[in-house]
Amino acid sequence: MRALVWHGTEDIRCDTVPDPKIEDERDAIIKVTTCAICGSDLHLYDHVMPGMEKGDVMGHEFMGEVVEMGKGVNGALRKGERIVVPFTIICGECDQCKRGYFSVCERSNRNKHVADKVFGHTTVFGHTTAGLFGYTHLTGGYQGGQAEYVRVPFADKTHIKVPEHLSDEQVLFLGDIFPTGWQAAVQADIQPTDTVAIWGAGPVGQMTLRSALLLGAKQVVCIDSVPERLEMARAGGAITVDNAQESVVERLNELTDGKGPEKCIDAVGMEAHSPRALEHAYDRLKQAVMLESDRAAVLREMIYVCRPAGIISIPGVYGGLVDKLPMGALMNKGLTIRTGQTHVNRWTDDLVKRIDDGQIDPSFVITHRVRLDQGPEMYKTFRDKKDNCIKVVLRP
Ligand code: NAD
Ligand code: ZN
Ligand code: ZN
Repeated sequence: MRALVWHGTEDIRCDTVPDPKIEDERDAIIKVTTCAICGSDLHLYDHVMPGMEKGDVMGHEFMGEVVEMGKGVNGALRKGERIVVPFTIICGECDQCKRGYFSVCERSNRNKHVADKVFGHTTVFGHTTAGLFGYTHLTGGYQGGQAEYVRVPFADKTHIKVPEHLSDEQVLFLGDIFPTGWQAAVQADIQPTDTVAIWGAGPVGQMTLRSALLLGAKQVVCIDSVPERLEMARAGGAITVDNAQESVVERLNELTDGKGPEKCIDAVGMEAHSPRALEHAYDRLKQAVMLESDRAAVLREMIYVCRPAGIISIPGVYGGLVDKLPMGALMNKGLTIRTGQTHVNRWTDDLVKRIDDGQIDPSFVITHRVRLDQGPEMYKTFRDKKDNCIKVVLRP
């Protein structure tokens, strides 16, 4: 089959690779009809997230048709059925899955001994993340969905059922960015009196701002420097701040009577650009010589501007260590931090209904529709924000 394969930094190719096969009785094979490139894929493309190996198939936002199943799938799916696949692989039976904390499923990461060590400084079972598709050997080294076919482990649980009358493009993002934006807003515990400030107007920021408004925020402010992304944010109902032109602190103070936003959301992650040249140079240098793995410009800014007793919600992905985090401000202001990979299936029953009811149509974010073999060039276009690119959808 054809698939987008990781070869190294900024080197993704459309290769012919072996077709996936059923390896376990709970597996299903999906023929991918539509998939997308996620902002998280850019951390692999830029290779700031370690743990990829040459030959790994990319992609964790995809959907398709069930073509084959192991006998353990037990009637949960039928041949020919169209499903969306959550990026988090879930067993549905462990302690964490039972609590709805699906992104920290204790069983689906087949390399959990590595994750236990990196995230828990322990070899004792239990500090792992879930297995993720197409996302490093730390999270299982599973082949991804930017491909013609993909093997879905624990397929009896790892799927999202969607109504036939909704199109692929309307439901595709249920597998990642829509529940990610939703969880980011839910974790901010939004009240009707709240100003919610969101850093990043990429696809995740777009879903987050619309979720925050659906959840009843008084006003939502979105911060970025890319004009077409800011325009899309305004179309979704946000007030925007262009951090290349304006002071984020001043604008947020103006909009909140000098008090600061009650809720701050980081939809940027580890590759943040600081509008302050010295800070950005410092973080880039430390990242380059491996003294910090992640750039913390957005985290620092959020801690300083957030109203005391406020909540900071972080859907943006981080991989390792950050530097110069203002702990004094965080502690003395009494801020709460909530974060995590998304517990996708925790939210999707509700979100499918909201799409079906017409409350939101997540396909608004798509700017580019291309063939799978155009994937490699689209990684670059998306990363560099060329050609007004905001979200790329691929059809294998
Ligand atoms: P993206 O790269 O398209 O968007 C990031 C945006 O942040 C860009 O528009 C960029 O201009 C902006 N930005 C950079 N520095 C900034 C700063 N200092 N202030 C304000 N904006 C700034 O990516 P995306 O698809 O929107 O994803 C965003 C983040 O969410 C990534 O880190 C991605 O890995 C993460 N993510 C997390 C989950 C999860 O489960 N938690 C799921 C999907 C994506
Ligand atoms: Zn993603
Ligand atoms: Zn589990």
